[in-house]
Amino acid sequence: MRENIDGHFLLIGLMAYPIRHSLSPKMQNILYSKLDVPYVYLAFEVTQDKLEDAVKGMRALGLRGSAVSMPNKQLVCQFLDKLTPAVEMIGACNTISNDDGVLTGYNTDGMGYMRSLKEAGVDVIGKKMTLIGAGGAASAIAVQAALDGVKELAIFNQKDDCYDKIVEIAKRINEKTKCKATVYDLADQDQLRKALSGSTVLCNATGVGMKPLEGQSLITDPSMLRKELVVSDCIYSPRKTKLLEIAESQGCKTLNGIGMMLWQGHAQIKIWTGQDAPIDYVKEKMG
Ligand code: NAD
Repeated sequence: MRENIDGHFLLIGLMAYPIRHSLSPKMQNILYSKLDVPYVYLAFEVTQDKLEDAVKGMRALGLRGSAVSMPNKQLVCQFLDKLTPAVEMIGACNTISNDDGVLTGYNTDGMGYMRSLKEAGVDVIGKKMTLIGAGGAASAIAVQAALDGVKELAIFNQKDDCYDKIVEIAKRINEKTKCKATVYDLADQDQLRKALSGSTVLCNATGVGMKPLEGQSLITDPSMLRKELVVSDCIYSPRKTKLLEIAESQGCKTLNGIGMMLWQGHAQIKIWTGQDAPIDYVKEKMG
């Protein structure tokens, strides 16, 4: 592939720290080759103190765009020219597009999650979703779900640093969209049971279920999951979390986080190249 690179190729970056472990460069470059578009994707270790300079460098060198990951997703917003309504509401950006020197911040995590539901044949528009989590993934999913037309969101989280942030986001959702978002303490299991009984989809957007919390689930009582409920987990390693195991035993349709990851990448590629990336191809290539 490198033999094809000539002076017309454009660079797309990934600014995060740590980042060398990321699967994104491999996934993105496989897709650019397959689409036969003149782009290369490279990961850059960028810490928060270097972020402003990195964005200036992006402008100076004319990068086509960049992905942004931890710890830079919030801070980067202040260095950009435009933010999508979703990014304004989430307060975090994971994708920058450079259009003739104008840098626009997008957030494709929620887009990826919502698309993964749709591709799995799950229709949650006009219905209720229960979301567990209040961090980066949960915030992006809550906002995108509301913007896409989910009617009601019941958001549960433990009372940690993230809790007050998701309360703020729920307030914005209630002000700016037709969705009704309510935040509850995860410790209130009766409220969780009630929310689940009226929901079409449950989404786990916490780290509970992956290392170092692999084998654990925030739902331990299988009777909370009726078989009509679609149970999704943002975690993709392991492919089947304890929550998904319990859900399967109840006869629920289940989705792991692979779809969210692939479809958020698809949304990024669409923003940067205008092309629809062949998701099945990368799934096959990356195993
Ligand atoms: P984050 O650190 O921003 O948020 C972590 C969340 O987990 C918070 O809500 C926190 O309260 C909750 N949490 C942590 N430990 C807990 C515990 N013991 N009990 C109850 N709640 C607990 O992380 P994030 O970026 O939002 O990621 C959350 C999950 O989503 C991770 O598993 C991550 O791998 C996954 N994720 C997947 C994708 C994808 O493309 N599939 C994308 C982003 C994140």
